[in-house]
Amino acid sequence: MKVFVIGIGLIGGSMVLDIKALYPEATIYGIDNNEKHLQQALELGVIDIAATMEDLHEADFVIVSVPVNVALGLLPQVLDLVGENAIVLEVGSTKNPICKAIANHPKRRNFIATHPIAGTEFSGPLAALRNLFRDKTNIICEVEKTAFKLQEKALEVFKSLGMRIRYMDPKSHDKHIAYVSHLSHISSFMLGKTVINKEKHEQDIFDMAGSGFESTVRLAKSSPAMWTPIFEQNKAQVLESLEEYISNLTQFRDLLVQDDYNAIYDEMTSVNKIREILNGISVKK
Ligand code: NAP
Repeated sequence: MKVFVIGIGLIGGSMVLDIKALYPEATIYGIDNNEKHLQQALELGVIDIAATMEDLHEADFVIVSVPVNVALGLLPQVLDLVGENAIVLEVGSTKNPICKAIANHPKRRNFIATHPIAGTEFSGPLAALRNLFRDKTNIICEVEKTAFKLQEKALEVFKSLGMRIRYMDPKSHDKHIAYVSHLSHISSFMLGKTVINKEKHEQDIFDMAGSGFESTVRLAKSSPAMWTPIFEQNKAQVLESLEEYISNLTQFRDLLVQDDYNAIYDEMTSVNKIREILNGISVKK
């Protein structure tokens, strides 16, 4: 099995690390426009061979794992270059624009649109991890548009990586993910900004920062190169979620101004049910 990964960072790198371990017969070819990442991936053993787009005709399995704006232009080229029996998957955090971009491509049936809901705040091949996808959800969109035999091939790999599969149409994916992922990143970035701005004048503030601050602001370490195009591509859904979030923040501020601590208590009590929701998610895993 010749597996090509285009974009050898956190997601693509982690995926091929597992594939390498689980399929010893697989050879991993890496393509990346960042020469340093290519060298690191070779040194770390994330890939076996550095390749170019011209080699893609040999591929059995192609993972496209680049920022979502890059994927829009790159994916049609990849489909042009692969053979009739290759399966090409893309792992970007938005799904509607990419599904639209290749909707009429003659090799649409060679493509499977996915979003593995797994990750960290780190980037590049040094961030690649074994078992990143174990017990995580992989959202697959428009599966009926992928050739059945190629679906089976991809699903076998997802299953061996330990992923749970959820099927969704691309518009629903982008709407739901705006709330549970894109909004969380904005919230973390802006919390980080608020504290950094304050710290300019109050040096002690970080001495007092505990694990609560650290876990809430963790996502603010994420790559702007990856996140700016995600917000651009999912602008309408992100704006909708942001409006609702701002309205909740404003409401909370108003309760505080009004000294309405009973309402604040009740508000927090009702949101405490997030515990059961999150426990339910880990039980399902
Ligand atoms: P990453 O660690 O930054 O890796 C992306 C790699 O692609 C980098 O080496 C990057 O090089 C390279 N690249 C950029 N443009 C390229 C091009 N034209 N041709 C070839 N390589 C190119 O990013 P990641 O976190 O793995 O994310 C990859 C994809 O997965 C994104 O679409 C993202 O939305 C999605 N995703 C991310 C997460 C997460 O938590 N991080 C979770 C699920 C899905 P440079 O660094 O030089 O640009």
